[in-house]
Amino acid sequence: MYKTKAYAAPSAIAPLAATTISRREPTDRDVQVEILFCGICHSDLHSVRNEWSEFMATTYPIVPGHEILGRVTKVGAAVTRFKPGDRAAVGCLIDSDRTCPQCKAGLENFCPNLTLTFNSPDKHLGGVTYGGYSDSIVVDERFVLRVPANLDPAGAAPLLCAGITTYSPLRRWGVTKGKKVGIVGLGGLGHMGVKIAHALGAHVVAFTTSPGKKEDALRLGADEVVVSRNTDEMQKHANSFDFILDAVSANHDINAYLNLLGIDGNLALVGAPAKPFAVSAFSLLMGRRCLSGSNIGGLPETQEMLDFCGAHNITADVEIIPIQKVNEAYERLLKADVKYRFSIDMASLKSE
Ligand SMILES: [Zn+2]
Ligand SMILES: [Zn+2]
Repeated sequence: MYKTKAYAAPSAIAPLAATTISRREPTDRDVQVEILFCGICHSDLHSVRNEWSEFMATTYPIVPGHEILGRVTKVGAAVTRFKPGDRAAVGCLIDSDRTCPQCKAGLENFCPNLTLTFNSPDKHLGGVTYGGYSDSIVVDERFVLRVPANLDPAGAAPLLCAGITTYSPLRRWGVTKGKKVGIVGLGGLGHMGVKIAHALGAHVVAFTTSPGKKEDALRLGADEVVVSRNTDEMQKHANSFDFILDAVSANHDINAYLNLLGIDGNLALVGAPAKPFAVSAFSLLMGRRCLSGSNIGGLPETQEMLDFCGAHNITADVEIIPIQKVNEAYERLLKADVKYRFSIDMASLKSE
């Protein structure tokens, strides 16, 4: 074991503060990564405040962070894909059973025995896993990703959650040139959805509640922008979409979007509103429409996404902050006051 600096929350109501945690020394198959940047995902905040207690209660202290971008500092003897000095990334999961049908299919994100990057039982040290708000992390090579050299590291960090969360459903449901695709919500997830759908060649329509975001949506790659509160504007797009990615976590009327789908159109949810949706059967019956969901992605697809983003030079739009501003950033996240993701410059942790 070795000691490393981190930022942790000691309880659901306490702010995050500097601390020291233990990591394992790299075993034969492990890669040790010095963390350069870590994105702030809304699930960090949910976990810190124990807001998802009914399906994954938080163990304290918690070190969140699963959008990890860094540099390899040490590798075990059996590691073949990385050497010290390489760029590397770690996303939402760091282990799985590797034997179940999902793991064999490269869908480790749906493994019943997966180990999340933070707040999961730690198989090596006991206790729980600690995430990316830290100087370094040690992860089995299978769960470490390669990062194209051209990508800006601060902006590439959020690809590990926001990027794969939007890339996976866009790919899964065949978004390509000639398809009309809607992206609902222009936050951390939605802005990635617009960029990736555009790069896939689709005709992209961004839906937003704020008219002020129109210019920005066009800049991000949208072909059209619809202010969703304007029913006339919405009606113009009725029955016309092949696919809609709904990245909104606030409660909203899903039927308004289902009715925009064409025959066999599909609306995939990647946001998680607190209240259940009220789905009108007719919204699905008419046009044989489909309502679906998606959750991050497996390791092969996450690598594919990073390579795709490298080829198209796609990163998240980020506001870089020092770790000392993380509590303030959480408050701003609650007000959606960020364009479009916070990325923590982990060099700031060295002064703690
Ligand atoms: Zn996340
Ligand atoms: Zn498995």
